[in-house]
Amino acid sequence: MSNETLQAVRGMNDILPDEAELWLWFEEVARDWLHSYGYRNIRMPLVEPTALFKRAIGEVTDIVEKEMYSFADALNGDLLTLRPEGTASCVRAVLQHNLLYNAPQRLYYSGPMFRHERPQKGRYRQFHQFGVEALGFAGPDIDVEQIVMCARLWNKLGLRDVALQLNTLGDSDARQRHRAKLIAYFEQHADLLDAEAQRRLHSNPLRIMDSKNPAMQEMISAAPRLMEELEDGALQHFEQVQAMLKYHDVPFEINPRLVRGLDYYNRTVFEWVTTRLGAQGTICAGGRYDGLVGQIGGKAAPATGFAMGVERLLALLQDDGMVLPKQEVDVYVVHNGDLAVRLASRVAEQLRDSDFKVLLHCGGGSFKSQMKKADASGARVALVIGDDEAQTNEVSVKPMQGGEQERVSVRNLIETVNKFIK
Ligand code: ATP
Ligand code: MG
Repeated sequence: MSNETLQAVRGMNDILPDEAELWLWFEEVARDWLHSYGYRNIRMPLVEPTALFKRAIGEVTDIVEKEMYSFADALNGDLLTLRPEGTASCVRAVLQHNLLYNAPQRLYYSGPMFRHERPQKGRYRQFHQFGVEALGFAGPDIDVEQIVMCARLWNKLGLRDVALQLNTLGDSDARQRHRAKLIAYFEQHADLLDAEAQRRLHSNPLRIMDSKNPAMQEMISAAPRLMEELEDGALQHFEQVQAMLKYHDVPFEINPRLVRGLDYYNRTVFEWVTTRLGAQGTICAGGRYDGLVGQIGGKAAPATGFAMGVERLLALLQDDGMVLPKQEVDVYVVHNGDLAVRLASRVAEQLRDSDFKVLLHCGGGSFKSQMKKADASGARVALVIGDDEAQTNEVSVKPMQGGEQERVSVRNLIETVNKFIK
């Protein structure tokens, strides 16, 4: 057997305790925020049949073509995939359990997603999203609610420098017409298309609009616009979204090249972007996907949603200089002696009954070395218990920020600790 140290899989990160505190804080803020809009939590498996993502996301997309962790179940050969995103699973779960039968649903989930990409800052192979889906609402009111709620979260988090980009992808007839014009246009400029664009020319020309290849940018900018094909319904929808955003004072920029990386979108699409994370500037993306429920096999229902990348959001917060107060300890319990150890663990439990955060010293050592640990823990108060104290059922209470140590009966302990902590 080799002795070399094992490492985590490339692009999959450990989140160590100092950083995990930021995650916990963020998750709590996010949950409160979601609940304030009436969204309810749903939890789906991390593994789904590969067919789900092929059908939902689209065969000719970056995710399905090259980013999925797919494998055959070694026991029965089933084709499975680690989820690259949550919308497909969420819609699958809603249909499987008939949640849309009676009423529309506002749902959210959070957790790891998996994509086999080239790891770099803000781009990992296991990353985390908060995903939000509203199923059964035709909009545009709900589209606006979702965008406004994002703005509220950025505000709550104190995030600076995030801008909203907005576009509409219209409905299917307009998209068909636009598609034909796009193919014709790209064929005229076939000499400028890179290999990927050539491959997608007939299968998914809209995706070419999304290309980051610098050599194609100018040609793409002059491509036919979907906006010109929009029909009345989609146009009105888009105008109402814009009017309501203005009413809510949420600034936006219309970006006709915003087509999103997944096939299931129609009408409203949006991204929240920052210039501060290099090329990985999109922290949140989403839009309307009225076709997906039907595509997955349900009775057609309108839907809209978005997902935030937690790593990118937290990187932005850290870039803003955000530091959290360290997780606090109220009381550190120091003890020495056979009788003392028993009393020490009993009073520690008693303090926890009264909601104090307590570190009970473990591992022995002199009073002096234990007091050093008490100091380092940041506790406001140390309890000092020797056999001497234990015999009379007393403890010494020492305020760590200066002040006289007091020896009190266990009965009066809570009162004394409270006095020092307040
Ligand atoms: P990109 O264009 O950056 O690849 P995307 O369009 O593939 O993003 P979505 O599928 O819309 O991303 O996912 C929503 C959000 O999840 C993104 O805006 C981003 O914040 C985050 N995200 C996506 N892929 C990754 C990744 N590999 N690592 C970290 N975060 C990611
Ligand atoms: Mg991507």
